[in-house]
Amino acid sequence: MKFMRFVNEQVVWQEVPGETSLAYTITGCPLRCKGCHSSEYRNPKVGEPLYGDYFQSRLDAYRGLISCVVFFGGEWLPGLLQPLLEQARRANLNTCLYSGFDLIPDCLLPHLTYVKTGAWVAARGGLDNPNTNQRFIDLRTNELLNYKFHTSANC
Ligand code: SF4
Repeated sequence: MKFMRFVNEQVVWQEVPGETSLAYTITGCPLRCKGCHSSEYRNPKVGEPLYGDYFQSRLDAYRGLISCVVFFGGEWLPGLLQPLLEQARRANLNTCLYSGFDLIPDCLLPHLTYVKTGAWVAARGGLDNPNTNQRFIDLRTNELLNYKFHTSANC
Protein backbone atom coordinates (compact mmCIF):
# COMPACT_ATOMS: atom_id res chain seq x y z
CA MET A 1 0.00 0.00 0.00
CA LYS A 2 1.38 3.40 -0.95
CA PHE A 3 1.41 6.19 1.59
CA MET A 4 3.15 9.45 2.33
CA ARG A 5 5.25 9.94 5.43
CA PHE A 6 5.11 12.87 7.81
CA VAL A 7 6.98 14.50 10.66
CA ASN A 8 5.94 17.24 13.07
CA GLU A 9 2.21 16.81 13.50
CA GLN A 10 1.28 19.98 15.38
CA VAL A 11 -1.35 22.69 15.80
CA VAL A 12 -0.26 26.01 14.30
CA TRP A 13 -1.75 29.51 14.15
CA GLN A 14 0.57 31.65 12.06
CA GLU A 15 0.83 29.63 8.84
CA VAL A 16 -2.83 30.09 7.83
CA PRO A 17 -4.18 33.51 8.88
CA GLY A 18 -7.37 33.36 10.90
CA GLU A 19 -7.31 29.57 11.23
CA THR A 20 -6.31 27.07 13.89
CA SER A 21 -4.62 24.41 11.80
CA LEU A 22 -3.47 20.86 12.30
CA ALA A 23 -0.20 20.74 10.36
CA TYR A 24 1.74 17.87 8.77
CA THR A 25 5.18 18.16 7.25
CA ILE A 26 5.30 15.62 4.42
CA THR A 27 8.73 14.17 3.75
CA GLY A 28 10.29 13.61 0.33
CA CYS A 29 10.19 17.05 -1.28
CA PRO A 30 11.82 16.63 -4.72
CA LEU A 31 12.85 20.27 -5.05
CA ARG A 32 16.35 21.35 -4.19
CA CYS A 33 15.97 24.95 -3.04
CA LYS A 34 19.31 26.40 -2.06
CA GLY A 35 19.23 26.98 1.67
CA CYS A 36 16.30 24.61 2.22
CA HIS A 37 15.07 24.90 5.81
CA SER A 38 13.98 21.21 5.88
CA SER A 39 16.76 19.36 4.07
CA GLU A 40 16.67 16.56 6.67
CA TYR A 41 13.09 15.81 5.55
CA ARG A 42 13.77 15.48 1.82
CA ASN A 43 14.30 11.73 2.22
CA PRO A 44 10.87 10.09 1.59
CA LYS A 45 11.78 7.24 3.97
CA VAL A 46 11.90 9.61 6.94
CA GLY A 47 8.84 9.95 9.16
CA GLU A 48 5.70 8.04 10.02
CA PRO A 49 3.16 6.71 7.50
CA LEU A 50 0.16 8.97 7.07
CA TYR A 51 -2.56 6.34 6.70
CA GLY A 52 -6.13 7.46 6.13
CA ASP A 53 -7.42 5.76 9.26
CA TYR A 54 -4.73 7.38 11.41
CA PHE A 55 -5.51 10.78 9.87
CA GLN A 56 -9.22 10.26 10.57
CA SER A 57 -8.43 9.47 14.21
CA ARG A 58 -6.61 12.78 14.51
CA LEU A 59 -9.49 14.67 12.87
CA ASP A 60 -11.86 13.05 15.35
CA ALA A 61 -9.59 13.87 18.29
CA TYR A 62 -9.35 17.54 17.28
CA ARG A 63 -13.02 17.97 16.36
CA GLY A 64 -14.18 21.40 17.53
CA LEU A 65 -10.62 22.49 18.31
CA ILE A 66 -9.27 23.13 14.80
CA SER A 67 -10.69 24.86 11.73
CA CYS A 68 -8.16 23.83 9.09
CA VAL A 69 -5.59 21.21 8.09
CA VAL A 70 -2.34 22.34 6.47
CA PHE A 71 0.07 20.10 4.57
CA PHE A 72 3.62 21.26 4.11
CA GLY A 73 4.29 19.39 0.88
CA GLY A 74 2.85 16.20 -0.58
CA GLU A 75 1.68 17.69 -3.88
CA TRP A 76 4.31 15.63 -5.71
CA LEU A 77 2.10 12.60 -4.87
CA PRO A 78 -1.29 14.11 -5.74
CA GLY A 79 -3.04 10.72 -5.82
CA LEU A 80 -2.15 10.23 -2.16
CA LEU A 81 -2.72 13.79 -0.99
CA GLN A 82 -6.13 14.20 -2.61
CA PRO A 83 -7.97 11.63 -0.43
CA LEU A 84 -6.54 13.21 2.72
CA LEU A 85 -7.80 16.61 1.61
CA GLU A 86 -11.20 15.07 0.91
CA GLN A 87 -11.24 13.55 4.40
CA ALA A 88 -10.52 16.94 5.94
CA ARG A 89 -13.27 18.60 3.88
CA ARG A 90 -15.76 15.91 4.93
CA ALA A 91 -14.90 16.86 8.51
CA ASN A 92 -15.99 20.44 7.64
CA LEU A 93 -12.44 21.74 7.82
CA ASN A 94 -10.68 24.19 5.56
CA THR A 95 -7.53 22.92 3.87
CA CYS A 96 -4.21 24.49 2.96
CA LEU A 97 -1.18 23.33 0.98
CA TYR A 98 2.26 24.87 1.33
CA SER A 99 4.00 24.05 -1.95
CA GLY A 100 7.40 24.91 -3.33
CA PHE A 101 6.02 24.69 -6.84
CA ASP A 102 4.38 27.51 -8.78
CA LEU A 103 1.71 25.24 -10.26
CA ILE A 104 -0.50 22.91 -8.22
CA PRO A 105 -1.89 19.69 -9.76
CA ASP A 106 -5.40 20.36 -11.06
CA CYS A 107 -6.87 17.41 -9.17
CA LEU A 108 -5.96 19.01 -5.83
CA LEU A 109 -7.33 22.49 -6.38
CA PRO A 110 -11.04 21.69 -5.82
CA HIS A 111 -10.16 20.29 -2.39
CA LEU A 112 -8.06 23.23 -1.20
CA THR A 113 -9.15 26.41 0.57
CA TYR A 114 -5.71 28.03 0.59
CA VAL A 115 -2.43 27.49 -1.20
CA LYS A 116 1.09 28.82 -0.78
CA THR A 117 3.16 28.58 -3.94
CA GLY A 118 6.78 29.27 -4.80
CA ALA A 119 10.17 27.85 -3.99
CA TRP A 120 12.43 29.19 -1.27
CA VAL A 121 14.68 31.94 -2.64
CA ALA A 122 16.78 33.26 0.21
CA ALA A 123 17.40 36.63 -1.42
CA ARG A 124 13.66 37.27 -1.63
CA GLY A 125 12.60 35.78 1.69
CA GLY A 126 9.32 34.23 2.78
CA LEU A 127 5.75 35.42 3.05
CA ASP A 128 6.68 38.09 5.57
CA ASN A 129 8.88 39.79 2.97
CA PRO A 130 7.12 42.15 0.53
CA ASN A 131 9.68 41.17 -2.13
CA THR A 132 9.05 37.43 -1.91
CA ASN A 133 8.37 35.24 -4.94
CA GLN A 134 5.96 33.19 -2.81
CA ARG A 135 2.19 33.67 -2.93
CA PHE A 136 -0.45 32.81 -0.34
CA ILE A 137 -3.88 32.67 -1.98
CA ASP A 138 -7.42 32.17 -0.70
CA LEU A 139 -8.74 29.95 -3.49
CA ARG A 140 -12.36 30.78 -2.67
CA THR A 141 -11.84 34.34 -3.82
CA ASN A 142 -8.40 34.19 -5.50
CA GLU A 143 -7.36 36.93 -3.08
CA LEU A 144 -3.64 37.27 -2.47
CA LEU A 145 -3.21 37.21 1.31
CA ASN A 146 0.54 37.90 1.56
CA TYR A 147 -0.21 41.19 3.30
CA LYS A 148 -1.48 39.24 6.32
CA PHE A 149 2.06 37.94 6.92
CA HIS A 150 3.72 41.36 6.87
CA THR A 151 4.76 42.87 10.15
CA SER A 152 4.32 46.59 10.66
CA ALA A 153 8.07 46.96 10.13
CA ASN A 154 7.69 45.64 6.60
CA CYS A 155 4.65 47.68 5.61
S1 SF4 B 1 10.20 23.46 -1.35
FE1 SF4 B 1 10.70 23.71 0.85
S2 SF4 B 1 11.22 21.61 1.56
FE2 SF4 B 1 11.30 21.59 -0.72
S3 SF4 B 1 13.49 21.98 -1.18
FE3 SF4 B 1 12.40 23.96 -1.24
S4 SF4 B 1 12.67 24.82 0.87
FE4 SF4 B 1 13.14 22.61 0.95
